[in-house]
Amino acid sequence: MAAALSRRALLGGLALGALAMPAVARAATPRVAIVGAGFGGAALASELASGSGGVLDVVLVEPEPGYVALCRSNLVLGGIAAADSIRFGYDELARRAGIRLVRARAARIDADRRAVRLEDGTALPYDAAAMAPGIALDYASVPGWGRAASERMPHGWIGRAQFELLDRQLAAVPDGGLIVILPPPDPSRCPPAPYERASMMAHRLRATGRGDCRIVILDSKERFAKMALFLEGWERYYPGMIEWLPPSIHEGIEEVDPATMTVRTGFGVYRNCALVNVIPAQTAGIVALESGLTDQTGFCPVRPEDMGSVLARDVLVLGDAAQVSPMPKSASAAASQSAVVAAALRSRLLGADLVIASYSSTCWSLLAPGDSVTTTGDYAVEMARMTEVRSYISSLTDTPLLRHNNADDYDAWFSEITGRIFSQ
Ligand SMILES: Cc1cc2nc3c(=O)[nH]c(=O)nc-3n(C[C@H](O)[C@H](O)[C@H](O)COP(=O)(O)OP(=O)(O)OC[C@H]3O[C@@H](n4cnc5c(N)ncnc54)[C@H](O)[C@@H]3O)c2cc1C
Repeated sequence: MAAALSRRALLGGLALGALAMPAVARAATPRVAIVGAGFGGAALASELASGSGGVLDVVLVEPEPGYVALCRSNLVLGGIAAADSIRFGYDELARRAGIRLVRARAARIDADRRAVRLEDGTALPYDAAAMAPGIALDYASVPGWGRAASERMPHGWIGRAQFELLDRQLAAVPDGGLIVILPPPDPSRCPPAPYERASMMAHRLRATGRGDCRIVILDSKERFAKMALFLEGWERYYPGMIEWLPPSIHEGIEEVDPATMTVRTGFGVYRNCALVNVIPAQTAGIVALESGLTDQTGFCPVRPEDMGSVLARDVLVLGDAAQVSPMPKSASAAASQSAVVAAALRSRLLGADLVIASYSSTCWSLLAPGDSVTTTGDYAVEMARMTEVRSYISSLTDTPLLRHNNADDYDAWFSEITGRIFSQ
C-alpha cells in the first residue's frame, strides 16, 4: 500500500528514503530488472504492468518454468488442497505490457555497472533493479544434515521437488510411525508454518487411518508464533499425537543420521523415524549474498521508506530476502512491499509522485479444516524505522464461526493474490 504524496509535501521532510533517489529524465524507456518471480518479484512485475504497462521495460529473471506457492503447501500435505492448486505458470504474467521474462538464474547484481549478471555471463543492464530471490537454506546449521541428507530428511521449504518428496514420505508413513520435525531458528520464512505443518500432517494421518502416529517437534526456540493457539488446537483435534519440546527440555540437536533415520538430542535419541523434516536456519537467497546486499544477519538491510538497499545504489529488495523486522517474512508481506517498491520505481524513473510507505502482513494457520488462526499487522515508518502500528492475533476464546470465517478468508486471499499476480 502506498499513499500518494506531492513533491511539495515531501520537501516538508517526509519520505526521505524516496528522496535519496532523484528522478531522472530519460529518452529511452527506463529499464527495471527484477530478480526472482515469487510473491515479491512476480507481484512487483504485475504491479508495474498494471500501473505503468509499457512505459517501463521490465525484465523478470527467473530460472524456474513456473511457481509453486509453498505458502499453501501445508494444506496440500493435509489433503485439504489439491497439489495442482498451488502451481502457477508465468505465461500470462509475461504477456502483460512491458514485461520480458528471462528464464535464467542471476549470479549477482553489479550495482556499480548497473547490470544483472546471469550465470551464463550475460549482462542485463538496468536503470533500477529489484532483488526478490527469497531465502537460501543453511545446510550446515543442523549437525549431520546437509544437501545430500535432504534427499532422505527433506526440508520441503523451497522448491517443488523437496515439497513433493515430503508429501510422498508422509503418504508412506505407517500407522504407529514416528515423525520428527526440526523447526528453524529466527529469523525464518513464515514463523508459524512449521506448526501449521504439524497440524496438517496430524490431520492427514488421522483421516487416513493412521491415528497412532506420533509427531515430535524438537524446536530450536523456547517459544513460537501463535504458541498458545497451536498447543490448544493440538490438544483439541489431535490429542496425544503432537508433542512439542523446546531446547531447554531436549537439550539441543546433537546429530541427525539419515542412514538410520535417527535424531540424537542432548536428552534422548529418536530411532527408526518414519519421516524427519529438517527445516534449517535461513538467509537471503544466494544471489543477494553474492551481490553484497546482506549484512551480518544474512538478510538485506533496507530503508523502510522505499525498500531501497542501504548497501547498493539503485537496488531495492523485497520479500523474504529483506530485513524488515518487525514485519514477518510472509507472502502477504512480500506482496504488500511490492506496491511500495512499484511506487518508488515510478517516482524514480517516471517522475511520479513519491509515496508514504505503509505495509501489512497476514499469516493464516490452519489447525484443522474450517479452523484457522491468524496474525495480522499493519506497518508504517516512524523515526526511520519499520514500526507495527496495528496488530491482531486470534484468541483462545474465538467462536467457531470466527475461526471458520478466518479459514474462508485464507482461501479467498490465496485465490485473489495468485489470480492478480499470475492471472489464473
Ligand atoms: C510451508 C510454508 C508455509 C507458508 N505459509 C504462509 C502463509 O500462510 N502466509 C504467508 O503470507 N506466507 C506463507 N509462507 C511464506 C511465503 O511463501 C514466503 O514469505 C513468500 O514466498 C516470499 O516471497 P519471495 O518472493 O520473497 O520468495 P519466493 O516466493 O521464494 O520467490 C523467490 C523466487 O526467486 C527465484 N530465485 C531465487 N534465486 C534466484 C536467482 N539467482 N535468479 C533468479 N531468480 C531466483 C526463485 O526461483 C523463486 O521463484 C509459507 C512458506 C512455507 C514454506
